[in-house]
Amino acid sequence: MNTKLQELKSRLREASDLNSAASVLYWDQTTYMPSGGAAARGRQMAALQMLAQEKATDPAIGRLLDDLQPYEESLPYEDDDASLLRVARRDYERQTRLPADFVGEMAEHSIESYQTWIKARPANDFAAVAPMLEKTLDLSRRYADYFPGYDHIADPLIDESDPGMTVATLRPLFKELRAQLVPLVDAIAAQPVPDDSFIYRDFMEQQQWDFGVDIVRRYGYDFERGRQDKTHHPYMIRFSAGDVRITTRFSKNNLIDGLFSTLHEAGHAMYEQGVALDYDATPLGHGASSGVHESQSRLWENVVGRSRPFWSYFYPRLQAVFPAQLNDVSEDAFYRAINLVRPSLIRVDADEVTYNLHVIIRFELELALLEGTLAIKDLPDAWQASYQESLGIQAPDNRDGVLQDVHWYSGPIGGVFQGYTLGNIMGAAFWQAATQANPDVTNDIAQGEFATLHSWLADNIYRHGRKFTADELIERVTGGALSIDPYVAYLRGKFGEMYGIDRT
Ligand code: ZN
Repeated sequence: MNTKLQELKSRLREASDLNSAASVLYWDQTTYMPSGGAAARGRQMAALQMLAQEKATDPAIGRLLDDLQPYEESLPYEDDDASLLRVARRDYERQTRLPADFVGEMAEHSIESYQTWIKARPANDFAAVAPMLEKTLDLSRRYADYFPGYDHIADPLIDESDPGMTVATLRPLFKELRAQLVPLVDAIAAQPVPDDSFIYRDFMEQQQWDFGVDIVRRYGYDFERGRQDKTHHPYMIRFSAGDVRITTRFSKNNLIDGLFSTLHEAGHAMYEQGVALDYDATPLGHGASSGVHESQSRLWENVVGRSRPFWSYFYPRLQAVFPAQLNDVSEDAFYRAINLVRPSLIRVDADEVTYNLHVIIRFELELALLEGTLAIKDLPDAWQASYQESLGIQAPDNRDGVLQDVHWYSGPIGGVFQGYTLGNIMGAAFWQAATQANPDVTNDIAQGEFATLHSWLADNIYRHGRKFTADELIERVTGGALSIDPYVAYLRGKFGEMYGIDRT
């Protein structure tokens, strides 16, 4: 058994190493590569990814998994070997169901569609992308059909990034959340809007950079096993346990854009750095799902990084860095400005309360497209109607409407957006559990100390990697199923206090 397990691990490591090598090329492409490198770089990454795919779907892996099944069944569920075999089988079955030419067709279409969107968005030209979306929808449905036996056509797409999650569980959860959020947004909108004009004063980039780096170092992001560089669209990327990087961007006239993107990406990166070292280059060596990942980034960005205790410690320090810009701004005014709630058109700029409404709108629209109850040609109108209904506003044109997000124009329709709101819901559940287990967490944060929270997350979430699904993690940590209650209580508490509205 042991030789077979070693052979399996070695084959899986080869596939993982090829993917990591492709990731290094991607990181370079988005940070330092001169534009002249673009064409060759695309080809080089595709070549590595194809090799990785061949290795990962080699029938020899299927045979090893079959041979090792009795061994897996003899072990407890939580055993490392049993978990590795379970997750490797899940990956192998999923990857081998999709024929190579279909994967190629999807990849090729994604590139064409993305290139069309890049031009269509500034030109406000939905007609240009409509035929692309028709094909994307067709490909997304065909994708689902490679996984027969699903309850809802979006389930196989969701399962790809949030294993175990289904429309049957997400739809009622999101519906309930929406029902709680809309009246909260309305109540806040009836209050005076706090002043946030000072956020857009002149802030030297290098000082912004240093301030953010100091915070994420205190958070527990390990720069011996990571680094930060600049890019257009910030992201986190893992090459190995010893090299988990973040990227960020700064704007001289926006103090919070760069800072909170650094805190967000560091949240993702600490999760990856905290995965058990033994799991590196195995199927367990990553975060559990897109939702759990987002729970970690949003916890450090919002629940910690936009909290009063946090700024009671850091605001005097921020003022010391930017005295000319902030000495006339009180801590309370700053806190209100960075937590300002306002219905707006752009998802990525949305505040903590309205953000989920943006996500739920997209989730419902993509389900309707996949179900066939909404046609592509009617999508722009449906988008506007949804925004009117949920947020009481409408985009002046499609640029800031149906054309705003890259997702539907660079991948399948379905399976991506749910992760963002799941992350918020789970993040609040994890936060509640962490603070119940360690009531000092909030006091520590007010002292600029994060070790208690970081080590609780490392023990309960990070180290497990992909060993447990999101549902299993939630069950282990909270003792129950995923619920919106901790999240709604968090939002009501925080924003009720800030806006002086009824918190019950
Ligand atoms: Zn994120």
